[in-house]
Amino acid sequence: MAPEWRCIDPHVHCRDWREAYKATIKEVVELARGQGVVAILDMPNTDPPITGLELAERRLETAKREGVEGGYYLYLAATPDERQLEEAVDAAKKLRRVVGFKMYTAPMKGLEALGIESQRLVYRRLSELGYRGVIAVHCEKVSLFREGLWDPSRPWTWNLCRPPEAESESVKDQISLAMETGFSGTLYLVHISNPASLDHVKEARERGLRVVCGVTPHHLMLSVEDMAGPGGVALKVNPPLREKRLVDGLLERVKNGEVDFLETDHAPHASWEKYGPPYLSGIRSLESYSKCVRWLLENSVSEKILREMTYGNAKRVFPMIEE
Ligand SMILES: [Zn+2]
Repeated sequence: MAPEWRCIDPHVHCRDWREAYKATIKEVVELARGQGVVAILDMPNTDPPITGLELAERRLETAKREGVEGGYYLYLAATPDERQLEEAVDAAKKLRRVVGFKMYTAPMKGLEALGIESQRLVYRRLSELGYRGVIAVHCEKVSLFREGLWDPSRPWTWNLCRPPEAESESVKDQISLAMETGFSGTLYLVHISNPASLDHVKEARERGLRVVCGVTPHHLMLSVEDMAGPGGVALKVNPPLREKRLVDGLLERVKNGEVDFLETDHAPHASWEKYGPPYLSGIRSLESYSKCVRWLLENSVSEKILREMTYGNAKRVFPMIEE
């Protein structure tokens, strides 16, 4: 049963185009509606990726052609390339359905800004261009990865390979860079999995930075212990599912109202890509949206906080959303 109120999901992957075998915009919009989600914000790591005006227009035309333009919004990629950033800012000015940019600090189809220097370039250029919108950032510090520890026959090792501190250290970096470059938009730290990351967010807010963050249903309802069974590899996500004690810590922070959004990071793949090489990361988390809302209410998250996390905060941070 869908929540009693309308919801907005600020982080989904609709695929389509060359990845239509995984999902299409239409399928994801319809799945969202069934879960009570009236607007979805699609990420730009599509094939081809959304880096400028032409591809953004083509993406919106696809949604229109599939008859699901209402409630569909998108991000453009923010890559460490000055020319691309200029084009992205231009597209954001022209297209009402562009809600912001997405930067990847870990490998992502060539879109990534790996390392501090690349990330600094993005914030600096956006500041110089006078950009005051949202930059959503996937935070994982690659220099803290221990790639050799990943073993698909023991899927819980993904959490060792990409440990919780890789996230919290990257969160710290993004906050420092946004402050140092005078970034005057909103920094949106997506899919937080480690409560320590939220300490940095809290401190940054106290120092006056406009920063928001989200959590996913899977990082709240599941833990790395759930990856111990035979189907464990199906739960491989980025950042990884964490130990139960961290998951419990995350729920406490949600109860305190420290988290702005419930975001699904809905990331459909074909089952052969999940259960065999390349063992892709991502799960169909929108399917659990209304279940998660109910679960949070049952676990003492107040309805007031939940309404903000699922609707009110998104309406404020993304004022262009109409539903
Ligand atoms: Zn994502």
